[in-house]
Amino acid sequence: MTKFEALGLQQSLLDAVADMGFETPSEVQEKAIPILLQGEIDLVALAQTGTGKTAAFGFPLIQKIESASRTTQGLILSPTRELCLQITNEIQAYAKYEKGVNVVAIYGGASITEQSRQIKRGAQIVVATPGRMKDMIGRGLVDISKIDYCILDEADEMLNMGFYEDIKDILSNTPKEKSTWLFSATMPKEVATIAKKFMHSPQEITVGTKNSGATTVQHEYYVVGGRDRYPALKRLADAHPDIFSVVFCRTKRDTQKVAENLIEDGYNAGALHGDLSQNQRDLVMNAFRKKQIQMLVATDVAARGIDVDDITHVINYQLPDEIETYTHRSGRTGRAGKSGISMVIVTRSEMRKIQAIEKKIKQQFINKKIPTGPEICEIQLYHLANKIKDTEIAKDVEGYLPAVNDVLQGIDRDELIQKIVSVEFTRFSNYYNKTKDLNTVDSRDRDNRKREKGSMSGNGSVRYFINVGEKDGYDWMSLKDFIRDTASLGREDIFRVDVKDSFSFFNSEAAVTDQILNTFTEFKVDGRFVNVEVSKSPGGSSGKRGGRDKGRRRDKDRTGRRDRNFAKNSPKDSGKRRSKRRSDFF
Ligand code: AMP
Repeated sequence: MTKFEALGLQQSLLDAVADMGFETPSEVQEKAIPILLQGEIDLVALAQTGTGKTAAFGFPLIQKIESASRTTQGLILSPTRELCLQITNEIQAYAKYEKGVNVVAIYGGASITEQSRQIKRGAQIVVATPGRMKDMIGRGLVDISKIDYCILDEADEMLNMGFYEDIKDILSNTPKEKSTWLFSATMPKEVATIAKKFMHSPQEITVGTKNSGATTVQHEYYVVGGRDRYPALKRLADAHPDIFSVVFCRTKRDTQKVAENLIEDGYNAGALHGDLSQNQRDLVMNAFRKKQIQMLVATDVAARGIDVDDITHVINYQLPDEIETYTHRSGRTGRAGKSGISMVIVTRSEMRKIQAIEKKIKQQFINKKIPTGPEICEIQLYHLANKIKDTEIAKDVEGYLPAVNDVLQGIDRDELIQKIVSVEFTRFSNYYNKTKDLNTVDSRDRDNRKREKGSMSGNGSVRYFINVGEKDGYDWMSLKDFIRDTASLGREDIFRVDVKDSFSFFNSEAAVTDQILNTFTEFKVDGRFVNVEVSKSPGGSSGKRGGRDKGRRRDKDRTGRRDRNFAKNSPKDSGKRRSKRRSDFF
């Protein structure tokens, strides 16, 4: 009998377990599954993400529901869209040999019509975020009045996110006679209140900390301009000469490009992504395991199989779309009781992603500065000195020493050391002498720079094109606010905002051009790229008073098409229309 069989799981689930490659039940599974299968009880389980809790409630739920009935019998509430989708996928995988089980995900930001269509087809299990669930109940699109099981997953997180009222409303639409299983990483007062109010003498289980050793990972972020990602990566590597790292990129193309650039620039790097043959991937992985490769540049998918224990750094060259992916990435370091560092290279506009991750991982990031040239030179110098000190003298060297001594005759010890060190040092110092500080300027620096430039309004200003306009819900005032807030600019930094139908123009002083362009590099709103470019015609195509102008001139857009919507840019609704809500990235 396998350990999973001993928990009381039926054959269809055991087959799925085998397919998933699970060998032994995790602690939470061992504790929760037997008691949930045994009877109809309420359960409070203190367990974090990564402990296998989805299977801990997923297996019993699948085993207990009537798959022949189309009635919704199980509801799982989870805090985020990502978690909701993840749970749905997992439960679908667990139920793959259990005929007729339909698991439907309900979450915001996707078509409600499509979701309700899926529900209508009959979903025994619904996995939902509270907001969308409440919305669908209100519209009569989902019926949870006959559920037998309600699972509150990451209850503390849901309450953190302000879902208490929604949860209360949702639960009031469920029958009194049902079992409630609550999973939470922590037990703050609010969670205890929910347990007390909505559960009947719940059994409690507590699971030790997750085995990924996440607490041994230090999380750091570095804010740079969008175009400085690569030089920043090089500096991080140069400042950590013994680095043994995985560098994560979002796409196969970026992965290949970054790896190629690193190799060209003299780093021990290699690429790992899905476009490589199995043989190529094996070669790269072997070289990495042997530490011949210090920087393994990888996609998330390709990196899944990396089972190397002593990775010192994970570098997020680009942040992933999903927070969960970040957790997987950073979990590659800090393994087997060792400590590790997860570094994130971000642009200013991505800062809110950092906050979202902090909330999720319940750990603070440290804001670090990309090392400057002199700092790197110093680090490299010490590294070299230590390397010399620790180097074992090769036996074979002896035979050559007389000749070497001849060459170096007359040079005293100090001078010799200086010369040896300079061989390596000069390479770095020559390179870094010419480079700038990569850290983005803070607002005080900006103000100073502006003051230095004096009153350069007018001919010192730059005209930009931005690919959003009225169609996206902007007027001149809301667009100005949006650009200013996103690029962290001051009140007067953006002017002559000229909103067209599907694009717009605006001006700024030249001093903040880099900041604006960097902010809007690879910047997305609602999944769509928002690009800003310096307008080809610096005079711009606006009327003199920008957005407030009633558009007396017919402007040509960038494709040369006549803009017929110029009159829409009317002052009458300026400022009244609310700025389009910008979705969270996660
Ligand atoms: P969770 O805590 O539910 O988010 O699970 C974390 C990860 O562990 C998921 O990718 C599961 O597929 C995986 N997992 C769950 N149970 C086991 C198990 N018994 N053995 C190995 N992996 C598991």
